[in-house]
Amino acid sequence: MNKIARPTLGAASVTEDRPTQEDAEAAIRTLIRWAGDNPDREGVRDTPARVARSYLEFFAGYEQDPVVMLERTFEEVEGYDEIVLLRDIRVESHCEHHMLPIVGRAHVAYLPDRRVVGISKLARVVDAYAHRLQIQEKLTAQIANTINDVLLPRGTAVIIEAAHECMTTRGVHKTGVTMVTSRMLGAFRDDPTTRRELLAMIGNRGHVSLD
Ligand SMILES: [Zn+2]
Repeated sequence: MNKIARPTLGAASVTEDRPTQEDAEAAIRTLIRWAGDNPDREGVRDTPARVARSYLEFFAGYEQDPVVMLERTFEEVEGYDEIVLLRDIRVESHCEHHMLPIVGRAHVAYLPDRRVVGISKLARVVDAYAHRLQIQEKLTAQIANTINDVLLPRGTAVIIEAAHECMTTRGVHKTGVTMVTSRMLGAFRDDPTTRRELLAMIGNRGHVSLD
């Protein structure tokens, strides 16, 4: 078994002096006051606790190890060695610059070399990295690099298309804009035929929407 370079778990660096739930709620009270409202007002009294709990959900990825998710593989695949593509995986993330939602979808593909992984695992790897503070470029690269390093396939491809709320609800206020990023490794990078086949598989559907 090859030695796998484990991606850095964000959690490792924060567990030592991780603030308490109370600390987090106090910070959110401050933000409510910063917005100009009164945190003791009835309507927002429970908001700090709710927001803190939401953060546990949004950022659950720091507690997850995508390498472990991919370690169980199956080798009885009757010699299957064509593209495996999981298309239209919903992506919910938060940008690390504004902590606002990034919502879109990912297409994840690999070209197996004797072993395959359960398909839900690919979606879980997307979630584990998405549920951290991110930029889309880094998210795309982390998913592809991890699949490539752990499964050791003949190729890995990740394409993400997503809308960034920091662009739609603030700043330049451009709606309907999506950003597309891709990372192609191995055969998807080196072999134009394989890459074309993948893009045809992804593009082969009736409509494009972010729902
Ligand atoms: Zn942003």
